[in-house]
Amino acid sequence: MLILDISLDKKTVDKIIKIIESKKEVSSYHFLRTRESWNIKFVDVHLVFNKDIKLINAHSISDKVEEEIEQLDCKSKWVFNIHLDPIDDSVIPWKWCNKTENEL
Ligand SMILES: [Zn+2]
Repeated sequence: MLILDISLDKKTVDKIIKIIESKKEVSSYHFLRTRESWNIKFVDVHLVFNKDIKLINAHSISDKVEEEIEQLDCKSKWVFNIHLDPIDDSVIPWKWCNKTENEL
């Protein structure tokens, strides 16, 4: 059996982007990835907030984003992985793993 995950359709992705861009506290976003497996829709994204916003406020805005995205299709199960960024780290060339090939 071959199982392939696919991205959400462009129309849905555009609506997700619109929801994210409608939040004035979110200055930008990056690493948006979507996929669908069976009837589960996955959304991963980094939301960039002003670094002085309180975590509780950024968290509640990301909850609101999730809630509005879920309204796009109430019949599906949605799984979100939203990362809250204090700066746009998409342009920083760092790596999580600093071990060399021989240390692994
Ligand atoms: Zn990021």
